Amino acid sequence: MIDLKKLTIKDARVHLDNKDFSAKELAQAYLLNIEKTNGDINAYLEVYDDVIKQAEEADKRIANGESSPLLGIPLAIKDNILIKGKKATSGSKILVGFTAPYDATVITKLKNAGVVFLGRANMDEFAMGGSTENSAFGITRNPLDTSRVPGGSSGGSVAAVAMFGALASLGSDTGGSVREPASFCGVVGLKPTYGGVSRYGLMSLGSSFDVIGPITKTATDCEILFNVIKGVDPMDSTTISENTYENSNKTPKVLGVPYHILDKGGMTFEAREIFDKSIEKLKSLGFEIKDIKLPNIEYSLAVYYIIMPAEASSNLARFDGVKYGLHIDGNNLLDDYLETRGAGFGREVRRRILIGTYVLSAGYHDAYYNKALKLRAKISKDFTDAFLEVDAILTPTTTGPAFKIGEKANDPLSLYLEDIFTVPANIVGIPAISIPSGTVSLEGKNLPLGLQIMAPHNREDVLFSVSKKFLNEN
Ligand code: GLN
Repeated sequence: MIDLKKLTIKDARVHLDNKDFSAKELAQAYLLNIEKTNGDINAYLEVYDDVIKQAEEADKRIANGESSPLLGIPLAIKDNILIKGKKATSGSKILVGFTAPYDATVITKLKNAGVVFLGRANMDEFAMGGSTENSAFGITRNPLDTSRVPGGSSGGSVAAVAMFGALASLGSDTGGSVREPASFCGVVGLKPTYGGVSRYGLMSLGSSFDVIGPITKTATDCEILFNVIKGVDPMDSTTISENTYENSNKTPKVLGVPYHILDKGGMTFEAREIFDKSIEKLKSLGFEIKDIKLPNIEYSLAVYYIIMPAEASSNLARFDGVKYGLHIDGNNLLDDYLETRGAGFGREVRRRILIGTYVLSAGYHDAYYNKALKLRAKISKDFTDAFLEVDAILTPTTTGPAFKIGEKANDPLSLYLEDIFTVPANIVGIPAISIPSGTVSLEGKNLPLGLQIMAPHNREDVLFSVSKKFLNEN
């Protein structure tokens, strides 16, 4: 019997190479578990019908003596990342009927590595949200407490891992969508450096923030998956080579905590307690903790919720009923656009398009969009200055544990506030990871919380090093 609960990518590799089980048996075990759990959780929008065939291919490669870290490893992929010949909807009705005409670069890399794709994971429509309640195809539930949200927007990808329905998965992170659900479901989630992973074949939300990131059970697995998907891509001119920034290879030692923002974040008492305990643990592991100031960080949410909708409103203009998916006939071309977009986009997407076009409009461009860009530069400078003093920066990932389904559904602003600790890394483009840091007991359930670690551009190595120490991984 394969114990899916304990299995990691690292262990599965050893078992596959030892022929303890085949890639086909591994895939079958996951398919069985998905069949049992997905009805309640709705992590997957679709489980592919060629999973066994993919696994048999991987087994052939293993039989030929090939061994690479991800050969035969079953993964879930967020519904906004293109896999040639498969459906992709970004959680939206407007893309019903759309089939991906090409592979995203990350998918090409994973195919070459011999990954088995289990299916596409549910998400907030066009990755707008922090709860996976905004999908056009139903909510996803938190596997640890089904009355609660899994977080979002990569809620399906994270729930798939947390319900033992995938060994790991890919999500996308524009303002926290990999880290926040990772925190709510007790797994590891990485937002890589902006440009560290190609966005080619990822449906755009906020192009200057978006990045694809791995979701795994351990920091070691996260590093394994990241190492396969990262790298320069001629199809995405914003990708950067690993050598763009100097890697000092110095072992991280000094960790900064911007205590002034914690007090403003509206954290629950228990969440603060767990964070303080995490700091104590890091101290006992030999790290030096420094209280640091990031003077402009309190403007992060305002900056993010101006620039991101501005970019989203432009990116989503392509969904006009002509090029992709849904088409509704009106009386003329303009009518076609209006009918299709009105019927195809959900409320949150329409809200952000309205905000985005407003802040970009001639009369308000200077007052909002340009001002936000200036502040973005100031926030970046704050981080650059802080990293002269510290090797990494710590905050909680979220202000509290997973909230109840429906609790924030009618109050978009309260949902936006959830992103207070995660958006700065996207504004600045630096890498950030969320790792499980403890649990709080609520209504008889143990609900996890995450510790966020941020490092300078291209220093994912710092994140993995601190995370592995914290999580006791060798
Ligand atoms: N919760 C944030 C938002 O709604 C982040 C989304 C994301 O990272 N895709 O925009």
